[in-house]
Amino acid sequence: MKTPALVISIMRWFDASAGVSVDGNFVDEEPMRVEWVRTIPFFAMHGVCFFAILTGWSWTAVGVAFAMYWIRMFAITGIYHRYFSHRTYKTSRVGQFFMALWGGTCAQKGPLWWAAHHRHHHRHSDQPDDVHSPHEHGFLWAHMGWITSRKMFPTNYKNVPDLAKYPELVFLNRYDSLVPFLTGVAMFGLGKALEIWAPQLGTTGWQMLVWGFFISTVFLFHGTCTINSLAHLIGRKRYDTTDHSKNSFFLAIITMGEGWHNNHHHYPASTRQGFYWWEIDMTYYILRGFEKLGIIWDLNPVPESHRDRNQIANADEAKPAPKPERESQISILGIPEPTV
Ligand SMILES: [Zn+2]
Ligand SMILES: [Zn+2]
Repeated sequence: MKTPALVISIMRWFDASAGVSVDGNFVDEEPMRVEWVRTIPFFAMHGVCFFAILTGWSWTAVGVAFAMYWIRMFAITGIYHRYFSHRTYKTSRVGQFFMALWGGTCAQKGPLWWAAHHRHHHRHSDQPDDVHSPHEHGFLWAHMGWITSRKMFPTNYKNVPDLAKYPELVFLNRYDSLVPFLTGVAMFGLGKALEIWAPQLGTTGWQMLVWGFFISTVFLFHGTCTINSLAHLIGRKRYDTTDHSKNSFFLAIITMGEGWHNNHHHYPASTRQGFYWWEIDMTYYILRGFEKLGIIWDLNPVPESHRDRNQIANADEAKPAPKPERESQISILGIPEPTV
């Protein structure tokens, strides 16, 4: 018996693979339109923020919300983007698992889903197939509309064969609401503990849940999405890339380095996205710290031959592209080719 579409939509709140073919492939026939029932948790997340009117606020709760934004912005840029999507550095299998957990706290779905869509973006940047190009589909769709659409919910495992071989990652990717749920519970527990043992801080379990998890997560979501929308619209273009990506100091600050997006489209295999010392890239500085601690290694540099090439101001575009210098770079995108 065929499961009704409504039931599948609800099942997908808890199991991202519900109703998807066993190999997790895209169902190409599904139309590019908003899947309202599946998207209820996404809108509810925004709605719950208004409960702050009931819970009130405290400096403690706002401070934790602020900290949770930056701690998890690092997870998006340093882990989901620079590790899982582009493999710009290496770590152990255990390290990889803990990083996936950290990324999961962001409530931006699983690492394979995130990486698969992002790799697709690099292959089709600002072309009709790029699902979040503001130039092709308008600002609102590029910013957030695309993730509400039916076609975007499954993970295209063909784009992430290098990650799909780890069952623990596939598990986290499939049950992608588990880690965010536990993060919310932890926030509530923290608030409750402070309510009991440090009442002078003036916070409660519910207040901490609303500020430390929901409000922080919504800001984190929109901060991340500026790279899909605004980073292809505002700023300066240093490199003559085939897309509309730009470099923006403002976006680099709020996203811990992702605002150097034109640099990134020019040479995605690099761990650092601020290519010059004055281009602040907080994620890169933290990753260097992790490298010193021995948690990660083999950070990909941006070779000077690449950094100085194809700059719009230099007009030396006739130079052929040098080959990537590291064996581990499967392509200049830093990502494996999709399997067929
Ligand atoms: Zn881009
Ligand atoms: Zn990228």
